[in-house]
Amino acid sequence: MDYNIVNGTIVTATDKYRADVGIANGKIVKIARKIKEPAMEVLDAKGLYIIPGGIDIHTHLDMPFGGTVSADDFETGTIAAAFGGTTTIVDFAIQGKGMTLKRTLNTWMKKAKGKAVIDYGFHIAICHLTDKVMAEMPEMVASGVPSFKCFLAYKGALMIDDGALYRVLLESKKAGALVMIHAENGDILDVLINDFLAQGKTEPKYHALSRPPEAEGEATGRGIAIAQMAGAPIYIVHLSCKEALDKVQEARDQGYPVFAETCPQYLLRSYQNYLEPGFNGAKYVMSPPLRDKSNWKVLWKGIASGDLQVISTDHCPFNFKGQKDMGKKNFAAIPNGAPGIEHRLMLFFHEAVNKRRLNLNRFVDLVSTAPAKLFGLFPQKGTVAVGSDADLVLFDPKAPYKISARTQHQNVDYTPYEGFKGRGVPRVVISQGKVIIKEKKFLGRPGQGKFIKRKPIKIK
Ligand SMILES: [Zn+2]
Repeated sequence: MDYNIVNGTIVTATDKYRADVGIANGKIVKIARKIKEPAMEVLDAKGLYIIPGGIDIHTHLDMPFGGTVSADDFETGTIAAAFGGTTTIVDFAIQGKGMTLKRTLNTWMKKAKGKAVIDYGFHIAICHLTDKVMAEMPEMVASGVPSFKCFLAYKGALMIDDGALYRVLLESKKAGALVMIHAENGDILDVLINDFLAQGKTEPKYHALSRPPEAEGEATGRGIAIAQMAGAPIYIVHLSCKEALDKVQEARDQGYPVFAETCPQYLLRSYQNYLEPGFNGAKYVMSPPLRDKSNWKVLWKGIASGDLQVISTDHCPFNFKGQKDMGKKNFAAIPNGAPGIEHRLMLFFHEAVNKRRLNLNRFVDLVSTAPAKLFGLFPQKGTVAVGSDADLVLFDPKAPYKISARTQHQNVDYTPYEGFKGRGVPRVVISQGKVIIKEKKFLGRPGQGKFIKRKPIKIK
C-alpha cells in the first residue's frame, strides 16, 4: 500500500465510524478497524475526520468575461481548491458565437491540461443553439460531459430564449444529460440596467438593484415549467433568494425532479456589502447579486429540508485593482464574480456543523456526495469506500482559521470573507492517492489532475 491512514474517524454522507484506510494505486483498497499491512507511509489521523474530498461543481477558471479573464487559471485555482479540501471541480466550458460544442470543450480542455492539480470535469454552456449544435449533444455526453448549462440572463451575450431551453431539455433527456440554468429574467434586467445608467446611477449597488429577486423567482419558475413541459429534470445554479426557493419547493413538493444549489456568499454576505465605502461594493458584484439578509434564514431552511442539495462556489475571481475597476463609472462594466473556491468547506463546516444547523453527514453530503451523485461522478468520487478514488481530506474540526487575502492561495487581491474566523481546517488533502497538501504546504504538481469522464445522468 502507498498509505495507511490510522486513528481517524471516517465520515460519509451516511456513516461515522473509527477505521483505518488503505490506499494503493490511487484507489481506496481497504477499510478496516485496524490495517496491519505495510504501507510506504502511515498518516496519523488522530482527532481528525476522514471525509471524501470536496466536489465543487460550479467554478469559472480562466474564463473570459466582459473584456477580461477570471484571475485564477487551472493551476492557481485548483491549488487554492486543494488547500481548501476540494479534490474535484466541474468548470464551465462556454460556447462562443459560431463555435461547435466540440471546439468549445477542446478550448477548455487545453486551459486545464498540464495545469490542474486536482481532477476536473466540464459542463458545456450552450449559448448559441442551432440544429448542428443539437446534433452534437449526444457526442458530448459520450465524451464525459453529461451536463449543459443555459443562461436565462446576460441578454445579447450568453442568454438563450425559452424555445432554445426547451429544445436543450428535450435533447438532454434523450442523451442522458442534466440541464442547469442560470435563472434571472434577462429581458427585464436589461431594461433596469439601461434605466439606471440613463439616470446616471452608476455605483456598484445598482448592480443589485437592477437584478431584483423577483426576476430570479420568475426565471426559476419559468425554467421549471419548461422542464416540466419537456419531461426533463432541471438543476438551478446559485439560487440566492426566497422568491426562487419557493418555486423549487413547490415543484419538489409535487414530485418533480428539480434540484438546486446555493453558495456560501448567499448565506454569509448581503446587499449591505454593496454599501461599503468607496468602490468597495464592486468586490461583491456577482450574478445573482447578494440579497437582503432575510434570505439567509430562508436558504438555511431550504438546505435543512433538502430542497437545496448542493453547496458550490461559483468561483469567478477578478482583481479589485485592474479588473473590478473597469466599472468605476458604470456598474454594468464591473466583471461579474467573486472568489470562493478555497474557503467553501471551512466556511460551510463552521456555519453548518459548528453552529448546529446540520449534522456532519449532511455537511459531507452537501459539499461532496450529493454533487457526485447528481453529476455522474459517484461512487468513483464523493464517498469513502473500497474501490473509490483515494480523494480524501483529513479534516481537523477543532483547528481555528482566519480568512484573509494576505494568506489565501486564490490568485486575487481580495476575499469577500476578509477577517472571517471559524474552526475546521483541512490538514492533509489526498488526490488520486497522493498527498498534495500537508501541514499547509502544497506537495503536488501542475498537470497531475485528470479529466474525469462523467457518466450519463439519468434521473426519472
Ligand atoms: Zn457561474
